[in-house]
Amino acid sequence: MPQDRFCFEILDLFEVEEVKGTGTSPSNRIAEAQGEHDRCASDALESFCTSPRQSVHLEEIECPFCGNKSSNIVIEEEGYQCRKCHRCSLIYLSPRPSLPEIQKLYGSGRANRSAEAGILGFFSRRVHERHHLRIVKKFIKKGSLLEIGAGAGSFLYEARKGGFEVSGIDLNNIQASFIRKRLGICCEESPLSVSSFGGKKFDIIYHRDVISHFYDPIEEFKKINDRLENDGFLVFETGNLGDVREKYYKLFTRFQLPDHLFFFAEKNLEELLRRTGFEWVEAYRYSEVPLLWVMKILRRAIDLTVSRGERKNLQKSHTAPLKRNGFSLSWLARNAFNYFTYIMLYKIGCVMPKRGRPQSLLMVARKRRG
Ligand SMILES: [Zn+2]
Repeated sequence: MPQDRFCFEILDLFEVEEVKGTGTSPSNRIAEAQGEHDRCASDALESFCTSPRQSVHLEEIECPFCGNKSSNIVIEEEGYQCRKCHRCSLIYLSPRPSLPEIQKLYGSGRANRSAEAGILGFFSRRVHERHHLRIVKKFIKKGSLLEIGAGAGSFLYEARKGGFEVSGIDLNNIQASFIRKRLGICCEESPLSVSSFGGKKFDIIYHRDVISHFYDPIEEFKKINDRLENDGFLVFETGNLGDVREKYYKLFTRFQLPDHLFFFAEKNLEELLRRTGFEWVEAYRYSEVPLLWVMKILRRAIDLTVSRGERKNLQKSHTAPLKRNGFSLSWLARNAFNYFTYIMLYKIGCVMPKRGRPQSLLMVARKRRG
């Protein structure tokens, strides 16, 4: 989700303050959802986050669209490198961790922490979801809807209220459990396959900020196509980093390597749709520049006000479970931040200049006949 790409460091500040001030009672809201879930971080993922190149098996890849091996390194982070294909502008992580190692990420302490944070921001997320649902309803008013990477389920919740018959997939068991137990929505924890939901086909498949995590985007889009009814719609949101001029890269505080495996240009997305049996229908574009600027200013303010020792605690807290009481400063901060990002991204970002700048793209495609 767009704000999740930007907000961790800012919101962690509130969480560090709170842990110092209020003790360690876990959130009832989260505890109910996750039951007896084991909160221990996986050792394997710790190595991902703290010393990635030393213990993870890496493999080199080529551009999946052109077959080129690029030497043009455009991003370096956490010891990983992203290369940009000179032919199609796709940015891809290479060398990258193997598929089994990537899969460990989803059961990790870091992923669980992100899941808990997503649940805390559930109610304010709905303002984002209503925006996306209004767009979905321009193309299809009702039917069966599957969300891949459903997070805390706020989109499914809104879509159900809007008359859709909803189902979800989320690989993180904290979020999947929340969706099933608290929202009463069917949610599976395995990647989409021929046996998902008993082979059922859907009128709409939706995902947001998921495509950058697909190990093989072409194969995943073919699977999605196969699970759509005739004339069914695919709606998804992602960034456009492949189109962004490099001078704007400095606006990003993190690229989240190796979690993100690909960064697409808009023409990559069109090619991906063409190769996997879809026809492009519409693209909605929102500039991320206003939000990124504000985040950069906040980051500077944090650098000036948080001591080095506290910042070390902040980094450690990226893999630790969130600890707080039900209604808390961090709960308020996360929900206020969700409203703020909605205004900055979808209300202000939609009227700002976009060419060559970071954008959030909401793509609408239809399953091609024949
Ligand atoms: Zn290429």
